[in-house]
Amino acid sequence: MYWGSLLLTGAIALSASAPSQAMSQEGFAQCIERFSREAKTQGLDSAIVRDSLANLKWVDRVIELDRRQPEFTTPFSDYLSRRVTDQRVADGRRLLREHRDLLARVEREYGVPAPYLVAFWGLETNFGRYFGKMSVLDSLATLACDERRSTYFTRELMSALRIVDEGAIAPERMEGSWAGAMGHVQFMPSVFIRHAVDYDNDGKRDLWNSLPDAMASAANFLSSMGWDDEYRWGREVRLPENFPYLEAGLKQRRPLSEWHQMGIRQTNGTTLPSADIEAALLVPSGHRGPAFLVYDNFKVIMGWNQSEYYALAVGHMADRIAGAGKLSRTPPEDSPRLNRDQVMAIQEKLNAEGHEAGKVDGIWGPATRQALSQFQSERDLVPDGFPDPNTLSALGIDL
Ligand code: CA
Repeated sequence: MYWGSLLLTGAIALSASAPSQAMSQEGFAQCIERFSREAKTQGLDSAIVRDSLANLKWVDRVIELDRRQPEFTTPFSDYLSRRVTDQRVADGRRLLREHRDLLARVEREYGVPAPYLVAFWGLETNFGRYFGKMSVLDSLATLACDERRSTYFTRELMSALRIVDEGAIAPERMEGSWAGAMGHVQFMPSVFIRHAVDYDNDGKRDLWNSLPDAMASAANFLSSMGWDDEYRWGREVRLPENFPYLEAGLKQRRPLSEWHQMGIRQTNGTTLPSADIEAALLVPSGHRGPAFLVYDNFKVIMGWNQSEYYALAVGHMADRIAGAGKLSRTPPEDSPRLNRDQVMAIQEKLNAEGHEAGKVDGIWGPATRQALSQFQSERDLVPDGFPDPNTLSALGIDL
């Protein structure tokens, strides 16, 4: 991989964009040929599809953005405070009231409570204020022509052509993120094809200009992934003293009743509801930060965006919009921001000690966290998988 080889040298300033990978005219023309054949094979051969294919442009900037790597890890505290702001919560509450009738109808029909829909809307586009200004067709064509994830983006490009073909939006107005996410709730084209709904019955599935379409589509997508409106996403909880933190992590699911027996309570001290469901415990800021029990709907949120932080932000945002207060425990402000060299050094050290942090890639993921918990446990540190100053010093990492 392109970045992999550079990263191992550790000699590059990671904030800098990768050099743009200019595509030759012939190279891109060959790609368009390939797209045209593929489109025809899929029965996409209308005038508007042929025009769209003929107008595709290679965009250097898309490749730069695709190769961009964050310079530092983002602690959960930073992630949450940037996304779930007081202003955004206030906007969400106002919009929940303003669109009460629509949202109630969607909720009844699809079984996804309105505050969640508004939370996704707020996190994805700040309630429709920012859809992204890139041409979705050009972005997808560029990524499909690039070798890194060509198969995936070719499929997305075909879905985008299908959307143009059905007349949902004019090709030149099909704007979105550099990676092809579109409209109020930033659907990828393949998700649009499968789950978008013409809820206002004007004959078009329009996720850019119709809020009814966008909200019903979001609800339809969540419902298709198994949203269960009998339950919440999860909740913040209070852990007892000396809690065995090795039990935390998304993959370690237990019945709610077992978590109760281990002394976990609601943040106000009351017992957990007795429901016959499984939950996992997350401590994204370590033992000094908030703890969460997450239920099945949390996995549904991660089907939308495969990030635990994102799913926690959606859940918390939905609670706030529905009237709840802030988290009872504020994530510690002094969470270290690690640069990639430091993360790689941690991963190397953990691997060397037999803790299986996985590939030394500088990315702070579940495997690294799990390995760190084991290291902490061996060293009699609180095994919360969180790189606090004590743990870093035990690892020999200088900040
Ligand atoms: Ca419509």
